[in-house]
Formats: sequence, structure tokens, C-alpha cells
Amino acid sequence: MQHNHTFRTFAETGFGYVGLCAGCRVINVAFQNSLFCLTLDQFEAFAVMMHDRLAMRPVSTSHGKSLMLPTPMPNYFLLFSDEDLRNLCALLTEAAPVLEAERILSLSQRLN
Ligand SMILES: [Zn+2]
Repeated sequence: MQHNHTFRTFAETGFGYVGLCAGCRVINVAFQNSLFCLTLDQFEAFAVMMHDRLAMRPVSTSHGKSLMLPTPMPNYFLLFSDEDLRNLCALLTEAAPVLEAERILSLSQRLN
């Protein structure tokens, strides 16, 4: 995924960042050591999924990481604590208005 496209950061905390590659129009949601690559249209659904904990299964451990999200890799899952999800959702919420503006802008560009 090495390329020189211009990257615009919309939100950044100690846990990660949300930004858009102006070249390939891919949104990068980096959180801890995960990177989610989304289109502008997918971002809102992703944010709802994280806010509402959709597609997550409860998992019982004594480590506080009580929510498990499957990935397309059969033996690989993402684990979240409530605090992790609060931190991730804070990032998504901060970036959301700018990304919504980007989405509307790109929609109107497609129509022109
Ligand atoms: Zn790019």
C-alpha cells in the first residue's frame, strides 16, 4: 500500500487517526494496530456499526476485552473493550462532519 498520494488527516488522538487519501479517495481509519480502509459511502455504516456494536459477539474473558468482531480471515478476530470502543467512536465522531461534507461534494461532482 505504498504510494505518494496526499493524505488529509481529519481526526487524530493517541489511539489513532482518521484521514482521506486525496489520490485514491480511500478513508483510513487507524486505531491501535488496525487499519480499516473504507470508501466515503462505507464510512457512515462503519461508524454506526462501531457505535451500536453491530456484528460483534460478546466474549467472556477476564481481561475486559469483551467484544469480538470477526474479520474476513477465518482465524483472526478483533477484540475491543468498552473503553476501546469509546476511543474509536470519539475519533469517528470527530471526523464525521468533514467526511460527510466530502461525500456530498464528491456526489455533486459525479452529477456534474
Ligand atoms: Zn492513495
